[in-house]
Amino acid sequence: MIRPAELIERKRDGGELAPEELAELVLEYARGGVPDEQMAAFCMAVYFRGLTPQETFTLTDAMVRSGETIDFSPLGRRVVDKHSTGGVGDKTSIALGPVVAACGVPFAKMSGRGLGHTGGTLDKLESVPGYRVELDAGAFLEQVGEVGMAIVGQTAGLVPADRKLYALRDVTATVEEISLIAASIMSKKIAAGADAILLDVKVGEGAFMKTLQDAQRLAGTMLELGQRAGRRVVCELTRMDQPLGRAVGNALEMREALATLRGEGPADFTELVLRSAARLLALSDLGVDEAEGRRRAEAAVGSGQALAAYERWIAAQGGDPREEALPAAPVVRPVCAQADGFVESLSALGIGRAALHLGAGRTRKDDRIDHAAGVVCLAKPGDRVAAGETLAEVHARDGASAESAVAEVAACYRIGSARPAPSPLVIEVMG
Ligand code: URA
Repeated sequence: MIRPAELIERKRDGGELAPEELAELVLEYARGGVPDEQMAAFCMAVYFRGLTPQETFTLTDAMVRSGETIDFSPLGRRVVDKHSTGGVGDKTSIALGPVVAACGVPFAKMSGRGLGHTGGTLDKLESVPGYRVELDAGAFLEQVGEVGMAIVGQTAGLVPADRKLYALRDVTATVEEISLIAASIMSKKIAAGADAILLDVKVGEGAFMKTLQDAQRLAGTMLELGQRAGRRVVCELTRMDQPLGRAVGNALEMREALATLRGEGPADFTELVLRSAARLLALSDLGVDEAEGRRRAEAAVGSGQALAAYERWIAAQGGDPREEALPAAPVVRPVCAQADGFVESLSALGIGRAALHLGAGRTRKDDRIDHAAGVVCLAKPGDRVAAGETLAEVHARDGASAESAVAEVAACYRIGSARPAPSPLVIEVMG
């Protein structure tokens, strides 16, 4: 029987816990046998001392074992998944899933909700009338087998230890520790069953990881965890210093994902979707490399098969796939340029916050969100603009919230005389 106080003391003093000790601490905590105050002290000790690679793996593995896991082996196929650490305007999975499914590769994702200035895939999907995010494990497996893809909320029984631990970290200032973040993300990905996982670690002011160095550490830790669990994992490090694509806000992002599936999406977002699809196809059981994966992904969009895969998927989960079924905001206001010049920068964090203040996000877990609200950034860094030209549109529920968002969005744009050097969206690929 473990003595939690002794384990806390050892970690506090920079020591290492044996795998059986750490696993028992985590599993006992999940069962209610270790109180919150001891686990909070343990998390704080980890915050300052970190975890060794072995401890990080043990923590992840114990969290996976704390609940149910999904087994896709009855499908007889290599199932793929994708996870982003979160950003502003990141609707990648919504376009990527159908592209991959249209290429014949099963795509299965359990997703989360947005909190603060970052959006969540489930909130975006819930802007589709009728869409059900709650499928049990059996229905999830069946849909992936029959329709080729599913995106659902995390089932209640999946990784209960992380659910409890994350809530505790959230209120004890211990979220921002890389081993804890990596274990939390990867335990959910491993339990959710996919054989191949593409990770997108966002870097920049609008992301969790503000520096490239931290992003590389997180990516490296997650890659190792996935590989030790027998999964194929690739990690992209992508910029999040400006919104991804143009649309920020739930229904607006669904429209942009649909436009991208029709081949009419913004260049940066389209490129990320196609690159990510190529990587997932190369990780799949199709036996193709990335170049062939890219060719097939482009063909799926060009032929309309990706759009058809989207429609099949949304309908299978009870949703209305027609674009006109998505909610629209009653008030749309332009944000105009004050001077001629180039867009030198556009703050991802600022735009994320403006969308949040419009009601597109939540500051507390139980806040209701306005699915129609948000911002469309028509001008992006590098674009030449003229005084009076529309830089962005604010979509709001009423005139007052639109007015204050117009001022917030205007402050996110820096217009100058020099065109900024283009910086690549994908900074690095690891794995
Ligand atoms: N997302 C997670 O799922 N867990 C963390 O710890 C941080 C971000």
